[in-house]
Amino acid sequence: EAKGKGKNQYHHFTTILMEKMEQQLWFEKELEIATLNHQFKLYYQPKYDLKEETIVGYEALIRWMHPEKGIIPPNDFIPLSEENGLIIVIGKWVIYEAISQLNQWHLKGYTSLTISINLSAKQFADVKLIETIQDAMIGKVIRPEHVELEVTETTALQDLDFATNILKDLREQGYKISLDDFGTGYSSLNYLNVLPIDIIKIDKAFIADSIYNKSKQQVIKTIIQLAHVNKMDVVAEGVEAYEEMELLRTEKCDMIQGYYISKPLPPNEAIELMNKAFEIVEC
Ligand code: C2E
Ligand code: MG
Ligand code: MG
Ligand code: MG
Repeated sequence: EAKGKGKNQYHHFTTILMEKMEQQLWFEKELEIATLNHQFKLYYQPKYDLKEETIVGYEALIRWMHPEKGIIPPNDFIPLSEENGLIIVIGKWVIYEAISQLNQWHLKGYTSLTISINLSAKQFADVKLIETIQDAMIGKVIRPEHVELEVTETTALQDLDFATNILKDLREQGYKISLDDFGTGYSSLNYLNVLPIDIIKIDKAFIADSIYNKSKQQVIKTIIQLAHVNKMDVVAEGVEAYEEMELLRTEKCDMIQGYYISKPLPPNEAIELMNKAFEIVEC
């Protein structure tokens, strides 16, 4: 009996495995089609300056508008695109699209806005990354100072010397470099000394529940001080409540992002926020 059951389980297991592989292949094919057919869209989340009390820029966040499955978030397809190399094509599109969008906003009169673009490790291994960014800037009124490139520890970690050189080169041209998800990696402090960084983004894990958590508050405070000593700006991610914003204001955090200000929005809705007299009221 036991033998029969074992065989059934084995059978069951291979069936699941086969289904998984089929799904994976299907998804990979779909992603290729999406890349060819431009099924991607950038959403924009505002960055709010606590001193100026205004939106100073937007972060571009990719969405896959799948014809049947609807909106697919980046965490569900960016890792796969990194594995199969499609990230180079997708990432190039993101760079062009985000830079063009910011340029349009500048032409409309919002001339101090910045754009943040997320880069993944594989894009750093691409020798054409700098060229791609420069090409996207051709014929635009915006300057490199308006463009922020977001990297994570893991982005840089894959080939630290290579990544450091590319970042230094871009920074010399005026582009801003920000270290995303700060505090979640193994050696955030190390990278702070090695990489050429303008902005630190405190990961949202430290902001969540920070109102009730004294040790999180201490971490936030320390990161902000550390950044300022090193002449860097600080952005807090994932701010969802008024109290969190006030806590960050007290600690002299420069900018915040999060659902409290706005979730990521399609471009038209995102820029509309600029027209509303921005009233942050306690709720
Ligand atoms: P990230 O760069 O750290 O972006 C922040 C993520 O937090 C976004 O998720 C955003 O929607 C979400 N978020 C913003 N405010 C709040 C909040 O108040 N509460 C909570 N719980 N979440 C908030 P999203 O858009 O799903 O993106 C996830 C990750 O995917 C990004 O993390 C980034 O690493 C990656 N990603 C997004 N767009 C691109 C892209 O164009 N290229 C590459 N290479 N990666 C991208
Ligand atoms: Mg980011
Ligand atoms: Mg982040
Ligand atoms: Mg991230």
